[in-house]
Amino acid sequence: MAFKTGDFVKVEKDGVFFEGHVIPGDTGFITLKMTGGGYVAGFRENEVRVTLLSPAAAPSEAPKQVVRNTVKGAGIQIIPSGKKITILTTGGTIAAYVHQDTRTVKPSFTGEDLLLEVPELEGFADFKVRDVFSLLSENMKPANWKELAQVIYDEIKAGADGIIVTHGTDTMTYSAAAAAYMIDTPVPIVFTGSQRSPDRPSSDNHMNLMCAARAAAGDIAEVLLVMHGSMSDDFCSVHRAVKARKMHTSRRDTFKSVNMFPLANMDYFTGELTFLSDYAGYAKRGENELKIVPVLEEKCAIVKFVPGADPSIFDYYVEKGYKGIVLEGVGLGHVSDEWIPSLKKAADKKIPVVVTSQCINGSTSLGTYETGLAMREAGVAEAVDQLTESVFVKLMWLLGQGLTYEKVKELISTEIKGDMSSMIID
Ligand code: GLU
Repeated sequence: MAFKTGDFVKVEKDGVFFEGHVIPGDTGFITLKMTGGGYVAGFRENEVRVTLLSPAAAPSEAPKQVVRNTVKGAGIQIIPSGKKITILTTGGTIAAYVHQDTRTVKPSFTGEDLLLEVPELEGFADFKVRDVFSLLSENMKPANWKELAQVIYDEIKAGADGIIVTHGTDTMTYSAAAAAYMIDTPVPIVFTGSQRSPDRPSSDNHMNLMCAARAAAGDIAEVLLVMHGSMSDDFCSVHRAVKARKMHTSRRDTFKSVNMFPLANMDYFTGELTFLSDYAGYAKRGENELKIVPVLEEKCAIVKFVPGADPSIFDYYVEKGYKGIVLEGVGLGHVSDEWIPSLKKAADKKIPVVVTSQCINGSTSLGTYETGLAMREAGVAEAVDQLTESVFVKLMWLLGQGLTYEKVKELISTEIKGDMSSMIID
C-alpha cells in the first residue's frame, strides 16, 4: 500500500472505521496518529482496507498554536500570593504540540506561551520566565543538569521566592535529583511537566502548572515534583523529587513516591494541601541558607544484574575506568556468587559500588543471606531504600567533590535531602 507520512486516511477493520494521519511504522503495518486524542494505532496491512481522504500537505514549519485555556480554569480559586516566581523552561511535552508537518510532538513553547495557556496565573504571582533549553528530556545530559542548577541558584539569589522548572517527564527525576543534591534552598524549587501536550483535550498542562505555581509560592522549601495525583482532574501530588519515579508510560498520574507517601496532595480547585508524610517532615521556607555545589563525576554507570549474567559485564566498567557504579541487584540487592570476585576487584581499585534493588519498594539488606554477606565483605555499599536514579546522581555528585573512597561509601548510605525514608512501607 503506497501511503506516505502525513496522508489522511480512513482504515476499515472488521467493519469498524478509524481515521488518522499516516506516520512511519513497522513493515507490513499501516500506522496512524489517530484523529482526536493523538494516540497511535498500528494495523496489519493485509487485514484492513485503507482509503485516502486527503494527501499529505507539503512539509512546512507548523505555526505555533498557543492554547489559551479558559475552560479548564473554570471554578479554580485564585488567592494572590504576592510572591515572585521564576519559570524556567527546558522543553518536554509540557512545552510541545503535535506539529502538523511531521505529526510528531516537539517542544516549541516558551515560558511566555505557558503563562498564556493558564490565564489564572496572571493574578496569582509576579512571574518571570527564562527559557533555558528546548529539549526532549531523553537528550538532557549531566552538563545540562549542572547548567540548570546554576540558573536556579542565580534566580533565587536574585530574589525569586519560588522556582518552577518545566521539564520532560522521562528523565525529570534525574534533573530534579541533581538540583536537590547541588542546591541548599530557602525557597521551593518545583519540577513539573505533562504527559499530554496542551493541544490535546486531556492535557495535564493546566492542572500541573497551576499546582506547581501554588507549590512554588508555598512553604515546602525543597526540590519538589508536582504532577497529577490521580486519573481525574482533582488533585496533584507533591513529591519529594529524590523519592519519585515515573511509573507509567502514558497515564497523567505517572509519578509515584517510592518508599514514602508524597509529602502532600493538593486540591486543584482550592490549592488546599493535605499532608501525608508527617513522619518525614519537610524543610520550611527560609529554613536553609542558599548554597550550590555544582559538581558531578560523569564517569559513573548503572549496571543491572540478571540471572546468569556474565560478571565481565561488570568488569567492563572497572576496566574502562569508571569512577563509581550503581549495581541493581535482585531482591534484597543480590547478585550471583560468580560476581563476588568482580566486586572485590572494584573495591581494590577504590571504585565505590552501591547496591540498589530491582524490586522498587523496600530496602536493600545484605546482612540477611549468605550472598549478601559475601557482597558486603567484597566492599559494596547499600542504597537502603533510595531509588536507583537518585542514588546514581548522588554518587556522581559525591565523587564530583573529590571525596575519598571511604567518605563516598559512608555518605552514599547516609540520608541527604530526605532521600532515605524514616518509614519503610512493607
Ligand atoms: N520524551 C519526552 C520527554 O521526556 C516526552 C515525555 C514528556 O515530556 O512527558 O521530554
